[in-house]
Amino acid sequence: MKLLEGKTALIFGIANDHSIAWGIAQAMHAQGARMAFSYSSPALERRVRPLAEKVDAVFIEKCDVSRDEEIEAVFARTADELGTIDILVHSIAFANREELMGNFYETSRDGFHLAFDISVYSFIALARAALPLMNQGGSMLTMTANGGERVWPNYNVMGVAKAALEATMRYLAADLGPRDIRVNAISAGPIRTLSAAGVSGFKLMYRHFPSIAPLRRNITIEDVGETAVWLSSDMARSVTGVVLFVDSGFNVLGVPTITDQV
Ligand code: NAP
Repeated sequence: MKLLEGKTALIFGIANDHSIAWGIAQAMHAQGARMAFSYSSPALERRVRPLAEKVDAVFIEKCDVSRDEEIEAVFARTADELGTIDILVHSIAFANREELMGNFYETSRDGFHLAFDISVYSFIALARAALPLMNQGGSMLTMTANGGERVWPNYNVMGVAKAALEATMRYLAADLGPRDIRVNAISAGPIRTLSAAGVSGFKLMYRHFPSIAPLRRNITIEDVGETAVWLSSDMARSVTGVVLFVDSGFNVLGVPTITDQV
């Protein structure tokens, strides 16, 4: 018996085959989930459709999460074509490139609002829209980063947005627990994706990460995908309101191991 046999997932945030959401989709497909995808802009359809075919996705539908009418449309289609859902995956973030470099105190008001709307509020909006379709025992997942708890250079407004996203996850977990719907976050270590490329200095951090993290290796979208499978399966039925780290243990470090090699 596969871990997600009989379950249905709606996945937001696949931009290409490097996306964390694609790692999640593949792992969920391998464990028997039926799924549908939503992508952000018409330009992405060309890249997302062939991926959807690989995992037999029932449909793909455009949804810019800053637009309420597009959220409504994707859930109307979900109701028509999937009926109910067991798993909602929110793997979405955005900030203007100029907010992801330099001094945090220079964050603009508009840049702050935009980052929070796309990266935080969207999880509330999707959770609310999903609710009428969610089965008991359902699971909602979002993607966060340790830059929400500690300071990462240049992560700036996105770090503050991740802190708010983690708090959002806990409030949703408290709201939805009585309906037997679980809400959790996965805190992933650095992975080379389109979004990550927008953070100034990311490549350097990625390169040094394996020499610092306790497991001495970078993590992959497959690592995150398999953790997402477990969190969304009945094996994790009593786990809610949790930030689960998939980061080779990086989060436990106060000071990185210092060697005399420079
Ligand atoms: P990604 O492949 O670029 O995925 C980010 C997704 O967000 C893209 O599909 C993007 O679509 C979508 N998005 C942006 N604005 C949107 C909007 N208005 N409406 C709908 N979708 C929108 O990068 P990723 O690294 O997999 O990111 C997924 C999640 O993981 C994010 O929350 C990110 O912060 C988190 N995370 C990433 C890392 C890492 O190192 N990569 C580490 C920890 C956590 P477009 O491409 O069209 O904008």
